[in-house]
Amino acid sequence: MPINILINGAFGRMGQLAVKAVNEHPHLTVVGQTGRDYDLKKAIHDSQAQVVVDFTHPEAVFQNAMLIIEAGAHPVIGTTGLTSDQIHTLQERCAQLKLGGIVAPNFSVGAVLMMKYAKEIAQHMSHAEIIEMHHDGKADSPSGTAMRSAELLAQANIHLNQPAKPSRETIPGARGASYHNIPIHAVRLPGLVAHQQILFGGLGETLTLRHDSYDRQCFMPGVCFACEKVITLDKLVYGLEELL
Ligand code: NAP
Repeated sequence: MPINILINGAFGRMGQLAVKAVNEHPHLTVVGQTGRDYDLKKAIHDSQAQVVVDFTHPEAVFQNAMLIIEAGAHPVIGTTGLTSDQIHTLQERCAQLKLGGIVAPNFSVGAVLMMKYAKEIAQHMSHAEIIEMHHDGKADSPSGTAMRSAELLAQANIHLNQPAKPSRETIPGARGASYHNIPIHAVRLPGLVAHQQILFGGLGETLTLRHDSYDRQCFMPGVCFACEKVITLDKLVYGLEELL
């Protein structure tokens, strides 16, 4: 029996591709498609969806995720913009219900590998900064991928970017946003899709990891993988790299 999937945000850029990818997958089937003006709770109930994929908007994602969990479906959250407190709240609720869920700031294999190897490099280099670049229609900054990368770098090496060298910003923001003591610089331009560089610095050398998504198709194998995997979990996992 294929797994019943509902796509929330089904009429957006990512949602439309997810509907097609899920329907083409031999073990998955789309039983519902919802958007902004739909009753998500009723749609989950009526469609008997086991898994709900969310590709909506940073303003709506926490409320959607809670609603999906309370409806008893497994959330697969691709929408970015969740704060670490919100992710923690979702994890607590899933743990209480022993319900599997996935929050994945990036579903692409290349980006997940970038994060995996960045952790290793961070243990050997003293300094790191992130430059993320996205299309100008992106609603949130910095990207979820950049935030997750910064969290992983800081976990891998708590001494990164120490000691902080005093510097004066002539224009506020010139040194980017600081998250877990990692500067993040966000670029928004038409023509871009989703790109990120992690730059490491050491004594007399730098090392750069770079990932480029040129086509949103790159996210679809990860979406399908998450839909299959999530029903086997009994907790909410943050980051696809945790499931590699
Ligand atoms: P998009 O093209 O703007 O699509 C979002 C869709 O969600 C639109 O159809 C929008 O409707 C709808 N929507 C907005 N608020 C809603 C709500 N409260 N309930 C249900 N539907 C709602 O955006 P996108 O490019 O597909 O990106 C969607 C999200 O996915 C963003 O947060 C983006 O950063 C993220 N993303 C994640 C990954 C990943 O790998 N995890 C990859 C790419 C993008 P309207 O048009 O009426 O507003």
